[in-house]
Amino acid sequence: MFTIEGISVFQGIAIGPIHYFGKSDSAPEKYEIENIEDEIARYEVAKAAAKEQLEGIYDKALIEVGEEHAFIFEIHQMMLDDPDYNDSIIENITTRKVNAEYAVTETENAFAELFASMDDPYMQGRAADIHDISSRIVSILSPEMDNSVRLGSPAILVAEDFAPSETVQLDKKNLLAFATIEGSVTSHTAILARTMGIPAIVKVGVSLSSDLNGKDAILDGFTGLLYIEPDEETIAAMLAKKKEHEVHLKKLDELKGKENITKDGRKIHIYANAGNLNDLESVVENDAGGIGLFRSEFLYMESQTYPTEDAQFEVYKKMAQTMGDKRTIIRTLDIGADKQAAYFELAPEENPALGLRGIRICLTRPEVFKTQLRALFRAAVYGNICIMFPMIISVGEIEEIYSYIDEVKAELREEGQLFREDVETGIMIETPASVFLAPEFATLVDFFSIGTNDLTQYTLALDRQNNSLGKFYDPAHPSVLRAIKMAADAAHAEGKWIGICGELGANLELTETFLKMGIDELSVSPASILPLRDKVRSL
Ligand code: PEP
Ligand code: MG
Repeated sequence: MFTIEGISVFQGIAIGPIHYFGKSDSAPEKYEIENIEDEIARYEVAKAAAKEQLEGIYDKALIEVGEEHAFIFEIHQMMLDDPDYNDSIIENITTRKVNAEYAVTETENAFAELFASMDDPYMQGRAADIHDISSRIVSILSPEMDNSVRLGSPAILVAEDFAPSETVQLDKKNLLAFATIEGSVTSHTAILARTMGIPAIVKVGVSLSSDLNGKDAILDGFTGLLYIEPDEETIAAMLAKKKEHEVHLKKLDELKGKENITKDGRKIHIYANAGNLNDLESVVENDAGGIGLFRSEFLYMESQTYPTEDAQFEVYKKMAQTMGDKRTIIRTLDIGADKQAAYFELAPEENPALGLRGIRICLTRPEVFKTQLRALFRAAVYGNICIMFPMIISVGEIEEIYSYIDEVKAELREEGQLFREDVETGIMIETPASVFLAPEFATLVDFFSIGTNDLTQYTLALDRQNNSLGKFYDPAHPSVLRAIKMAADAAHAEGKWIGICGELGANLELTETFLKMGIDELSVSPASILPLRDKVRSL
């Protein structure tokens, strides 16, 4: 047996074999071929296999996410047959006598560049599709270049790291737990693990390899330990711990339907954080009082191109209908920094956390912003949708947002569309600027929600993606707590309510502090709702 130590992201015990996911980011090798005909035939076979894969994905997506989202996989099938694309690959093979993988990649780069240089944002978005279909063919031609995670049976996934977009696409059915060599506890990958309720550890720090494949392991999400080929004694201890945890969870189940009320009668709202429709099940299952943060950017990251107004409308409507009269706070897209979607074609930045992200993207790409606002105001008819804006730093931004809201409402009215007028709107308090200006902001919006992940990062000048800052990283730093108190006082002075939707909201050691500050709502991952209710009821 050997043991590896990481940092715990989500508690739980997982027992099963390891699946090592090694990413290949190198470009395919170029070599001279002997027989042109054979190489073209190799390409044709791979293309046919790619089409077959896409048919399967289309059928699966049709059931899981509906026709609107599945449609892209039909488009990919059509793109594979595009005469220009095919001619270019065959010409590369024929005239340059190069291998098919290299010919596909050459065509991919040329076509993607062409699409990316077009003015129309829709056509620009097609560059991502070219990359997608091309890497599918290349990974069929050279399976060692395959960059997607496929779990055929239950396993503990071990990897260098996952981008948030890769995490959302993981096959949760067979995912027992995951451990990453890199990563940090407040990265979006870690947040997703928590939202999905998957035991996980990050930053194990040692280099791991495919030698681990198939080896039995136990991941202890409480201590952050990963036992590889555990001995009898460890297996027995872990089985007992797993059982104990299950009993504890069962006990928490008894709190379902009960109030979040302290012994002296103070009530607090406990809402859930969610990232996609799949999370709704655990939101309801864990008896959330509402949704305090729906990270709508994941809709964009799961998609190959800008999700249409109608596609978004269906998602928001389903959420509103499921939650009924409970608040369903949808945050407008917070793309940027570690949350990337290729088709946004964001230029590389020196300091992405301080760059074009969140509301800054919306206010520089009004057509994208207005599409989302239209979908939200239309869907709000079906429940209690509230809209929240991220990364706010100025009064001017809020005024600009309101002018887009007015425009959108006027358009919807003119078109005779059904929409709701009186939607609650709020902002995230996640920059020091928003704390200092909270008294002004409180006069303009209906509520505040504190994003402690970013507020900590920007207040302490500590990169949330960087876990090596070790002892310097203190999410409960007095300056962060003081900032939360300042924002709470500013909200209450104007009779507005304030919540916390960053990860700190689930820290049970701070629950009493937050209640004393007058925080009205805590929004946490679904699995943290009942432990938090238990804590509140004990105070
Ligand atoms: C936060 O910053 O605390 C927050 C809730 O938003 P995100 O983690 O998505 O940046
Ligand atoms: Mg944030």
